[in-house]
Amino acid sequence: MTTHISPHEYPCAGCGARVEYAAGTSVLRCPYCGHEQPIAGGDRAVREHDIADLTRSPREPVALLAPDVFPCAKCGAQTTGPALSLACQFCGAPLVRREAVTDAQVAPAGQVAPEAVLPFAMERAEVRARLRAFVSSRRFAPSSLKTVTEAESVKGMYLPHWTFDAHTRTRYTGQRGTRTATRQTYTTNRDGETMVRNRQEDRVQWTPVAGEVTRDFDDVLVPGTDRVAPGDLVHLEPWPLAEAQPYRPDYLAGYHTLRYDVEPEVGLDRAKRRMTTVIRADCRRQIGGDAQRLFTVDTTYSAVTYKLVLLPVWVALYLHGGRSYRVLVNACTGTVVGDRPFSRLKVVLAIAAVLAVIALLVVGVVLATSHRS
Ligand SMILES: [Zn+2]
Ligand SMILES: [Zn+2]
Repeated sequence: MTTHISPHEYPCAGCGARVEYAAGTSVLRCPYCGHEQPIAGGDRAVREHDIADLTRSPREPVALLAPDVFPCAKCGAQTTGPALSLACQFCGAPLVRREAVTDAQVAPAGQVAPEAVLPFAMERAEVRARLRAFVSSRRFAPSSLKTVTEAESVKGMYLPHWTFDAHTRTRYTGQRGTRTATRQTYTTNRDGETMVRNRQEDRVQWTPVAGEVTRDFDDVLVPGTDRVAPGDLVHLEPWPLAEAQPYRPDYLAGYHTLRYDVEPEVGLDRAKRRMTTVIRADCRRQIGGDAQRLFTVDTTYSAVTYKLVLLPVWVALYLHGGRSYRVLVNACTGTVVGDRPFSRLKVVLAIAAVLAVIALLVVGVVLATSHRS
């Protein structure tokens, strides 16, 4: 079963081609004739949603949702994918799902609709420059990589993320450690001579403690998709979330937008794990002393709110030595995350050079000693 949808179309009023969102601007632009038109949408503000809303409105599990079919009005082809937006696989026309933006933030299809979007700020041309700098910055990068060409593919993607706000109150029990330095005097007997020595010894004394810490969390971020390695996404942080705009489909025109595949409830569990790290540090700070032990940490969460936000990432794939490497670029800050190949030959040559220097030194020392004798 698939869901047929009627996507937004983006015809260019200038030449009949298609307009797409121009990174770093508030317009849609035609890549062929340069025609520009303003982004559509009202003056809605970004809102946080009460977590209780999730249980109030019935939702289909995302794992059971059929992939959407995007028919293209321009060429008649159909493109299928679990996406909010994509490019027609035949003519490349931008197709964006019509997502209802409601107060409950649950779309008719039974999914949570995006609340906010962080628009692309960096253009494709700049990504290539960043990519070249990234691959050649490594010392042993193969020479062929220093000239990354158009052969690599660069694709703009919006990745779904959940953000959570929460007020937390945490009761803890533990111990405070106080270090005391004691000086010990002892004598040694060596070759019939008696020597007096001092020795410093650290001793930690533990006293039981209990207390309470509170903290308000704002926009704790977790990926809404498992299709991209979460470790890579963490390294793309931080994101300028304050610059997020209320969701408007126009921002997605010309970019691929993944549908979320991590349920918001699962996202909240992961967000709580991030919060726990901060809370435990708060507890240790309050305990003070020279060392701390935490035995029980009990947190109650209140005023929990959530929202679905789309974050812009340039995904670059390049081939080298029969292997493909994937690089992610934060399209707001320019942070680059990914693999870089290194040249085996260059590493071998570097090692050989070091060995040669050692050999020369050894020969030099041997010659010097043989001259002296
Ligand atoms: Zn045009
Ligand atoms: Zn098409």
